[in-house]
Amino acid sequence: MERVGTVSEIASLWARVLEKAKLMLNDQNVYEAFFASSYIDHFEGGTAFVVVNSGLAANLLDAKYKNLLEQAMLEASGTNFELRFITEDEVKEEPAPQEKKAVFFKDAVLNPNFNFQNFVVGPSNREAYQASLMVARSPGKLYNPLLIYGGSGLGKTHLLQAIGNSLRGSFSNLRVLYITAADFVDEYVNYVRGQKDGESLSSFFKNSIDVFLVDDIQFLVGKSGTMEMFFVIFSALYAQGKQIVITSDQHPNQLDGLDERLKTRFIAGLTLDVKAPDLLTSEEILRSRIAADGLDVNDFEPEVITFLAKRFSSSIRELEEALNRLLFYTINIKPSKHIDLALASEAIQGLIQVQEDESKLSDSKIISTVADYYSLTPSQITGKIRTSQIAMARHIAMYLMRSLLDDPFQKIGKALGGKDHATVMNGVQKVEKALKSDPEMQAAIRELTAKLKK
Ligand code: ADP
Ligand code: MG
Repeated sequence: MERVGTVSEIASLWARVLEKAKLMLNDQNVYEAFFASSYIDHFEGGTAFVVVNSGLAANLLDAKYKNLLEQAMLEASGTNFELRFITEDEVKEEPAPQEKKAVFFKDAVLNPNFNFQNFVVGPSNREAYQASLMVARSPGKLYNPLLIYGGSGLGKTHLLQAIGNSLRGSFSNLRVLYITAADFVDEYVNYVRGQKDGESLSSFFKNSIDVFLVDDIQFLVGKSGTMEMFFVIFSALYAQGKQIVITSDQHPNQLDGLDERLKTRFIAGLTLDVKAPDLLTSEEILRSRIAADGLDVNDFEPEVITFLAKRFSSSIRELEEALNRLLFYTINIKPSKHIDLALASEAIQGLIQVQEDESKLSDSKIISTVADYYSLTPSQITGKIRTSQIAMARHIAMYLMRSLLDDPFQKIGKALGGKDHATVMNGVQKVEKALKSDPEMQAAIRELTAKLKK
């Protein structure tokens, strides 16, 4: 796009064009009637949009004077613009600027794919499902807070968002907020830094939220300021009888570094766990996924379903990944309608290999564990974006590769997407320094090391 300057530069450019046009035209009345009140509204690429005072003027200028004006424009600006004549009414309405008031969690959304209809119920998750359903039927009345805990990939986020989606459907007047505790930490940090003025964070919750769904509460651990604020908000919502639902990767009592008062509050309502699914439930989930993808379960040999369900039962996320891999393989690599055991094991061979590799401590395991811990993706850690949270996670990954694997700086840099020796050294030093005084950093390194050595 052309560099076309500020509003006043544009106005004076058009004034010069009109001067020239007036001379070339040599008819004062025509000039006054059609040209005098025109102005450039905006540019789009090489086109200047000129507003004139009537539809007739637009037609006339276009038919008779376009060349003349474009010539004048070229002389005045040195650039070959095309001119388009429009009336005031045709100018696109700019959206009115939003009122400048603190708005928290602007990006919070619910994923409609997480609902009760497509959640497969089995012994491993039945109670958590039932409690979630009841909370969605009578929010604030039965179990408050409801806390669901359990390992990764076992359906906690799915249930939490299903509650939100169901409430939005049947109680559309209730204001539902779904966030992860990591979002809360971010918002709190921005708030304290004073980037948001106006309404305070706690009054936002008091005035704007009826149902509070918080995912992955373990991210609060060790962050004392954030926990303090969370406690204030939690207590206020609770006192107002508003429904709160929380998930955690462990029972709150197991979360070292979680404020004792929060532990007490969190388990004061109903606390339930989700476990790894049994074989039948895993198979049922697979069949329902296949159907949801528009495929026919009968194209899969029953042994294939059992094989996948057995092999990937510790996490439903992994089960889904294995199925996706199989589907990808049978569509793109070895197109086949009928899927038997030989084909399935061939398709997921690579996946098993990756899993086995990952069970050994490696650079990539460190990257993915750190990413998980901060709710980032591995590619954010190895990428170039440098928000403070991503940069910190990256430094921590560097530090762990150095301290646990004794990697040379160069190797670390390579594993992290091509960072140079000095960058890595600097990152490692930052963490070492923080470890001397920052309890959050100490807790993060302790927990990450424990996870990695498991
Ligand atoms: P968590 O939050 O416990 O780590 P998620 O809720 O993100 O796990 O679940 C991981 C994936 O598995 C999601 O795609 C989710 O839809 C799916 N999933 C988990 N449990 C079930 C279930 N019981 N029925 C169907 N899909 C499930
Ligand atoms: Mg989750």
